[in-house]
Amino acid sequence: MPEQQPAELISEAAIDARVRELAEQISSDYADKGDIVLVGVLKGSFIFLADLSRRLTIPRTIEFIAVSSYDSGSVSSGAVRLVMDVRGNIEGRDVLIVEDIVDTGHTLKYLIGMLESHRPASIRTCALLHKPGSAEVDVPIDYIGFGIGDEWVVGYGLDYAERDRTLPYIGMVEPDDQ
Ligand code: 5GP
Repeated sequence: MPEQQPAELISEAAIDARVRELAEQISSDYADKGDIVLVGVLKGSFIFLADLSRRLTIPRTIEFIAVSSYDSGSVSSGAVRLVMDVRGNIEGRDVLIVEDIVDTGHTLKYLIGMLESHRPASIRTCALLHKPGSAEVDVPIDYIGFGIGDEWVVGYGLDYAERDRTLPYIGMVEPDDQ
């Protein structure tokens, strides 16, 4: 029997429209700065970063950082581990962290602290998705694509145990471990 596709939560068209709006907002907010550094958080943000970065109208460069917060399932341990740091020099630069989703907030909080140690001129944060009901720590999110409930979402870069990352829409799955 063919496998069932995850139920759609946010359509491809809605994502596209929102990414364009975010890019417009960010381009306007940074219009008077030099070029910004977009720091994409691997792996989940890779598609969002690709689309967002191509729609910005300001000069920008791309860096990646990788952290691991959950083993392979969907339960947060709260402990965040750095897997790969940025390669380029971001000292004195305006940094925009590009995250796929902010859930408890532990990952973003850790990332801000980590990147601050590189002494950038400024750090702002952008998350495609936010689960406001699951927040455990207070962390600033300057740009948010969509607020969602506490369902586990996949697609547009997000996975469940490495599956469904390349779905063109945001879908919901029932994790086995909840
Ligand atoms: P936090 O540290 O805010 O609890 O979690 C952030 C990270 O957890 C995200 O970068 C993402 O990797 C993962 N995460 C949280 N909720 C979801 C979800 O619904 N779907 C997926 N695929 N990842 C999630």
